[in-house]
Amino acid sequence: MRVLGIETSCDETGIALYDSERGLLADALFSQIDLHRVYGGVVPELASRDHVKRLVPLMREVFASAGVAEGDVDGVVYTAGPGLVGALLVGGACARALAFAWGVPALGVHHMEGHLLAPMLEASPPAFPFVALLVSGGHTQLVRVDGIGQYQLLGESLDDAAGEAFDKTAKLMGLPYPGGPEIARLAASGTPGRFVFPRPMTDRPGLDFSFSGLKTATLNAWQQCVAQGDAGEQTRCDVALAFEQAVVDTLTIKCKRALKACGLNRLVIAGGVSANRHLRASLEAMAKGLKGELFYARPEFCTDNGAMIAYAGCQRLMAGQHDQSGIEARARWPMEELPPIN
Ligand code: ATP
Ligand code: MG
Ligand code: FE
Repeated sequence: MRVLGIETSCDETGIALYDSERGLLADALFSQIDLHRVYGGVVPELASRDHVKRLVPLMREVFASAGVAEGDVDGVVYTAGPGLVGALLVGGACARALAFAWGVPALGVHHMEGHLLAPMLEASPPAFPFVALLVSGGHTQLVRVDGIGQYQLLGESLDDAAGEAFDKTAKLMGLPYPGGPEIARLAASGTPGRFVFPRPMTDRPGLDFSFSGLKTATLNAWQQCVAQGDAGEQTRCDVALAFEQAVVDTLTIKCKRALKACGLNRLVIAGGVSANRHLRASLEAMAKGLKGELFYARPEFCTDNGAMIAYAGCQRLMAGQHDQSGIEARARWPMEELPPIN
């Protein structure tokens, strides 16, 4: 089965063609980061309008680079949520219209299921069951995964998502959006141990997270340096490293706890923050200690992309699932509501 996937949940237009026999045929992405950077975050209306502009040229590019005739697909799948409703509607309307014109089924895909399954596109994909850590701009969740659509939420952030904490902390330090890659870049030149920030909620049982206090602790330390006239490049790097290390340690402690609670030793990380090198190294070492293994997607498939949507949608279409009529677009959508596939 060959499927066209469309991702427009936030500020990236992602298109891909996935074939169940041959794998990923082609994918293309347009990131609106430059469009939103001056505002320090995503402006929903600008995002929707830009998706309208990018969709058709990107689709043409993907069909051409895959060597597939336009419309020669068995289904069209699109991100139906969670995300910005206006942005979702652009992709959903486009997908429904194309599916109708081409006489094939359409299916709305859950964005976080897309992230979760992105590591399946790699050479050695994880086998079920496993524990997944979803760490993105809007989510921080630990999930037990027994199969596609068999998700048990183990814990989640009670306030900011991990990616959001990176973005907000970066902004407070005067760094550009998105903050994750910026902080990671600075942290690489940081002095270990010069600053130490809290590892929130690791001193009590449970698998939930909280990152807003860490953000404040980082801001306080930074402002103190600024007040003392010590806000140079090295200090910025040192603060960035301490923040990153606190997030990495916290996520590692909770992942270890989740694996032990489930009696599993396979860990999958997905979402934008899973591109973070320190996080990968820390989780890799932890998983090794449990004689387990860590799985993740290539960096460009950690953040938003069309390939993960095409893959997830293809699995569900193959299982006979598809939308009835109308465009699905949901700002909020708990992943546990998804039906399992056989
Ligand atoms: P969601 O998927 O929850 O709806 P989103 O789609 O905005 O949110 P993603 O595209 O998965 O999130 O990831 C973007 C986030 O990942 C941003 O918060 C960004 O700062 C963060 N990020 C990207 N690369 C890195 C990195 N190397 N280190 C830390 N964070 C990173
Ligand atoms: Mg994005
Ligand atoms: Fe995302």
